[in-house]
Amino acid sequence: MSLPVSVLEPLATIGILGGGQLGRMLALAAARLGFKCHVFDPGPDSPAFDVVHRITCADYTDAQALDRFAADVDIVTYEFENVPAETATFLAARVPVLPDPRVLATIQDRLAEKSFVAALRIPTAPYAAVDAPRQLADALDRIGRPAVLKTRRFGYDGKGQATIREADDPEAAWRAVGGQPCILESFVAFEREVSVIAARTREGAAECFDVIENEHRDHILKVSRVPATLSAATALAAQRIAETIAEKFAYVGVLAVEMFVLSDGDLLVNEMAPRVHNSGHWTLDGASISQFEQHIRAIAGWPLGKPVRRGRVEMINLIGSEVENYRSWLTVPDAAVHLYGKTAVRPGRKMGHVTRVFVDERQIPERAGAQTRSGACQSHDPAGRDKA
Ligand code: AMP
Repeated sequence: MSLPVSVLEPLATIGILGGGQLGRMLALAAARLGFKCHVFDPGPDSPAFDVVHRITCADYTDAQALDRFAADVDIVTYEFENVPAETATFLAARVPVLPDPRVLATIQDRLAEKSFVAALRIPTAPYAAVDAPRQLADALDRIGRPAVLKTRRFGYDGKGQATIREADDPEAAWRAVGGQPCILESFVAFEREVSVIAARTREGAAECFDVIENEHRDHILKVSRVPATLSAATALAAQRIAETIAEKFAYVGVLAVEMFVLSDGDLLVNEMAPRVHNSGHWTLDGASISQFEQHIRAIAGWPLGKPVRRGRVEMINLIGSEVENYRSWLTVPDAAVHLYGKTAVRPGRKMGHVTRVFVDERQIPERAGAQTRSGACQSHDPAGRDKA
């Protein structure tokens, strides 16, 4: 349980656990509102370190460093859900932590996360717990094939997952995910993947951004488009699901909920992130308020902004060496380039993103589904080199 938290005044210091690009963009939004930020991250090259008032570079289990951090900040939040829940709990005994660490503990465990959603009678893919390899055959009998085996903890960008199809050996899948407690989920033949970014205040006021449609490449988010191609009723239902989850968590801050859309418009919740989310980066340029500012306002006890979208929006992640194309993007009139200041370029690493806002519908490039003969999506790379 967090300590009571007062409304923050400008010049207050916000502590952020995690110094990646999300922490960096949170800190920039906080600075615009007159707050100072102190970022805690074990990595010396953390992108958020470049833009903040104070940093702590220490392990998340370093009690002395956590104590000093807690003494320096007025409130703590996080940009990264794999911060050890014990770290958040340790801090919560010393300084208010939002969102509440109990939310973090639930979302860090896929089984607890799915059970929480299912208890709200919100549909998910059918799932079963698999704690040991001998439970796998029984779970497969119940769930059927194809199915997806996912580690309960520390999975992201498709890591810690294995699909089990008709001919596959379940034991091999168990070994592939590292032989650790898992859930087995029915494989969903979804029509599209969407996410909702919701924000909720301490008093329970909530705002959702428009539903986002997400396209992944090699399990990593590549393009987000807003609005998603959904009926108005389905879009509203998706937003209601996110608001209901936020309410039941008594959540404060920005929450992302990822969902599958089936061909009949039904929605299944896939997973949640108790933080700002990559699929919400478009809000920096494409909406009247960004997800980052919305999060800072919510945890500060300030009123939320009413998000108004400025047009159709595309957000394109610059992954690995794609970042080297940044100069070409600078010449595209409607493109806003964001670089995260990461020194090492590695395959699969998110290095930056580009937002394109199409205020005039006639400016919208061909949809990504419409590929060129070479397979490159024309709208994603002004230099035509984006063939990853
Ligand atoms: P996750 O880590 O759960 O977000 O999964 C990463 C990606 O794997 C998702 O964005 C989907 O594209 C795919 N995926 C995850 N779970 C399933 C499922 N049950 N059925 C089909 N595809 C899935």
